[in-house]
Amino acid sequence: MISDNPDVIYAIDADDQLVELSSSWEAFAQKNDGGVGLHPRSVLGQSLWSYVRGRSLQTLYHDMIAAVRRTGRTCEFRFRCDSPVLRRYMHMRVDSMPDRHVQFRSCNFRVERRDVPLYVQAVSTGDHHLQRCSICNLFELPDGAWSDAADAVTRGQAMNQDRPLRIIWSVCEPCRETLRGEISQVGATSR
Ligand SMILES: [Zn+2]
Repeated sequence: MISDNPDVIYAIDADDQLVELSSSWEAFAQKNDGGVGLHPRSVLGQSLWSYVRGRSLQTLYHDMIAAVRRTGRTCEFRFRCDSPVLRRYMHMRVDSMPDRHVQFRSCNFRVERRDVPLYVQAVSTGDHHLQRCSICNLFELPDGAWSDAADAVTRGQAMNQDRPLRIIWSVCEPCRETLRGEISQVGATSR
């Protein structure tokens, strides 16, 4: 299935506040989180950092934005933005704009339907938790491997609906290395 979603574009100003959202933002937010708290009126003027989940992703974004601002170069990377029934493959382009503004443009270049819908009961507290990578959307299994949710279900781990899970968003090691590589390319001095 090829995506027909329009690109989602947003931009931040020099103080990292959201100053621009494409009209496709609202539709995309509705599909993903029911749009709760993501209406453009409530998002514009807010800090980007309220919406970047997890400390490891915040650190990577922080370094990426700094490198893009400093060099005026573009940073690009791939990520996933899954829903319970879809695997959504996304591409992100981060561009430097005038006045230290930075623009983020994400496009959805491919969609796959899951054979087994993913139902993770996420709660905000509790000691039963599961780490999930914000970039590739894989889950960390108790043995330390990172796995797609369907694999986690088959392996009988972590998806027990009787025990609500707390999802902790982080970045897995392979994604961290990939992003670090992209950021250092942006930041590398040209000779
Ligand atoms: Zn990952």
